[in-house]
Amino acid sequence: MKVLSLVALVAALITVQSSILQAVENKGVDWRARSSVADRDRYSDSDTDEELNFGREIAARLLGQYKMSGNEKLQKYVNLVGTTLTQNCSRPELVFHFIVVDSSEINAYSTPGGYVFITTAILAKMENEAELAGVLAHEIAHVSERHIVKELSLKGAEKSAVSSIAALIGGASETVGIAFSQAVDKAVDLILRDGYKKEDEMQADGGAVMLCALSGYDPSGLVTFLDKVGKIKSDVGKTYPVYDVRLATLQRAMSDEGIAGLKLALNTERFVTAMKIPERSVNPLDLIRNVIPGGTP
Ligand SMILES: [Zn+2]
Repeated sequence: MKVLSLVALVAALITVQSSILQAVENKGVDWRARSSVADRDRYSDSDTDEELNFGREIAARLLGQYKMSGNEKLQKYVNLVGTTLTQNCSRPELVFHFIVVDSSEINAYSTPGGYVFITTAILAKMENEAELAGVLAHEIAHVSERHIVKELSLKGAEKSAVSSIAALIGGASETVGIAFSQAVDKAVDLILRDGYKKEDEMQADGGAVMLCALSGYDPSGLVTFLDKVGKIKSDVGKTYPVYDVRLATLQRAMSDEGIAGLKLALNTERFVTAMKIPERSVNPLDLIRNVIPGGTP
């Protein structure tokens, strides 16, 4: 009798869980359609190819400034979590790469086309896989929404040939080469120094929690982590009111999307185990060659 009740309980829980996931997936279909429709007419396939070339150049530049971690197992683990999230990305044509870099900065950043970097210092502040998923999903959203491409006006709605990514990168003239190099410089400055517009950060937060929920991760991971980072930054004497605004906006977005209060996977144990992976060091240059063909760090 007890066994039967247990079976019934488990079956009931599975039914509840799958109906939650089904409800989330239904929202996801709507969400993916919404996020891709605005850009569909604005960017061509060749723009996407050039977006990738542009991003690869920026990634190579970033790897000249940050040392890629030689911990191969950690790289694989972070890639696994990241790749799980990208299954639900609104731009399936992109192939993402996730790269752990040794740095004492609490940071994560991404380039157009799909290179996502995450520092060992930010990983050390996380408590579970849902927080890691939240941070990676935030970067994935910056990429899928083409925030850098739009910020640098690499292609305007007017479809000016001069400003299009393809013209910028594909052209052979010296002027085009200089413009490309300047665009890479600007993108690196935006990523490492200037930061994104507040609206872009909020859009990336909103996209991130949807990606997490659709992938089975508890969307509260990003919320708890942003809260934590906001406190850490204010503890070191700097005020970051932007975190309060972002958190409030994020909570509102989660309610609007119907994903607030969802109890999905945190995967604390798996995360803690992964962070304790004994370091098997490999030459970071070999890892870089795997992800960035021809990349010269
Ligand atoms: Zn961001």
